[in-house]
Amino acid sequence: MTKPTTAELQAMDAAHYLHPFTDHKDLGARGTRIIARASGVHLWDSDGNRILDGMAGLWCVNIGYGRTELAEAAYRQMLELPYANSFFQCTNSPAVQLASAIAEQAPAHMNHVFFTGSGSEANDTVLRMVRRYWDLQGQPEKKTVIGRINGYHGSTVAGASLGGMAAMHEQGDLPIPGIVHIAQPYWYGEGGDMSEQEFGLWAARQLEEKILQVGTDKVAAFIAEPIQGAGGVIIPPSTYWPEIKRIVDKYGILLVVDEVICGFGRTGEWFGSQHFDLQPDLMPIAKGMTSGYLPMGGVIVGSRVADCLIDNGGEFFHGYTYSGHPVAAAVGLENLRILREEKIIDYARNEAAPYLQQKIAGLAEHPLVGEVRGMGMLGAFELVGNKATRERFPGKGAAGTLCRDMCILNGLVMRAVGDTMIMSPPLVIQPEEIDELFDKAWRSLNMAA
Ligand code: PLP
Repeated sequence: MTKPTTAELQAMDAAHYLHPFTDHKDLGARGTRIIARASGVHLWDSDGNRILDGMAGLWCVNIGYGRTELAEAAYRQMLELPYANSFFQCTNSPAVQLASAIAEQAPAHMNHVFFTGSGSEANDTVLRMVRRYWDLQGQPEKKTVIGRINGYHGSTVAGASLGGMAAMHEQGDLPIPGIVHIAQPYWYGEGGDMSEQEFGLWAARQLEEKILQVGTDKVAAFIAEPIQGAGGVIIPPSTYWPEIKRIVDKYGILLVVDEVICGFGRTGEWFGSQHFDLQPDLMPIAKGMTSGYLPMGGVIVGSRVADCLIDNGGEFFHGYTYSGHPVAAAVGLENLRILREEKIIDYARNEAAPYLQQKIAGLAEHPLVGEVRGMGMLGAFELVGNKATRERFPGKGAAGTLCRDMCILNGLVMRAVGDTMIMSPPLVIQPEEIDELFDKAWRSLNMAA
């Protein structure tokens, strides 16, 4: 079979492929870029351009591209047992081993894993588990989940409702009932005259206000990302999480920490929760769980909820055809083996992240950059028209889009969230590749200026 040419693929793409999160009219004269292959931290498009992937795909290719061990694990498992469900008193070896391996890395009280096919499905599972938990506690009126404005928890109906993205809510009449939102801990953009520490406390106390407003007998859970990813790599002030913990404990509501981005090493720890010393009841996971080589997600369930579901719950009427898929689980297991044996998270924490953060800090010198921020292998910088007043450029997000396009021209993938440029490279990125990333970022900024 002859391979289609780039032009043929682009024509088929335009004729048949509806892309996620895409304005098809915006694809421009060039057409869709076809990513053809990848190795390490680099991608190649079908025209042969070499591009450094500063986003690790969508924050997921933590161990980098081209690891044959994962392909071999999938191949072996497909031949041995390509599919088996975990319904009807059955299970399969890779799923069992993966649940056990994840529990070993998770905080001590989190010993069970419910598997899903994605992070969005993980958050749908969260909503059902939270409500089921309170039913079983004899408090079925505790249904409301509090999320955050500009939080991201996926794009299914429940995921998008738990998230606080206005544009997503506008399409499809979301959020669904029983989900409300509080302010995000975004000091640079929304802190006003408050110091960062004051603002962190203020933002956390919005949770208490909302609990009192909704009614202490009605609130079931609070959901948040340790660090907001899709919202623009928003790192909460140091006062934020301790105060959230105090409030969650005071009112006895469940704490759901969405680890879909932060999990599996992104912050330099196995989980973001460990970074902030959190004791979640539920942790949705996905992405780095398989390094994106196959789709898989899950919810790590702490003893409070797991014991209740197992001991008193009867059948939980929830699950997916692909829950605990043996091939995805085999890939996940191999990914965990590589993360552990090659000490990739130690490398990220001790070597790659300090250098990456030093380089991010250096971007603050650029005249277009108003704020730089980062933690572990996450980073962001905000483009402003006036550094002193933090005034934005006219045309919401136009500066970010321009900078993103300059990056691609210079062979670098970075995402723009409005006028915030974000990065999340593979954890295995080497110092000279970090140099390449920032050389390209500087060049792109200069071209955009
Ligand atoms: N939760 C968080 C924090 C995410 O960042 C994402 C995706 O980016 C999701 C959930 C949804 O995951 P998925 O796209 O696999 O459905």
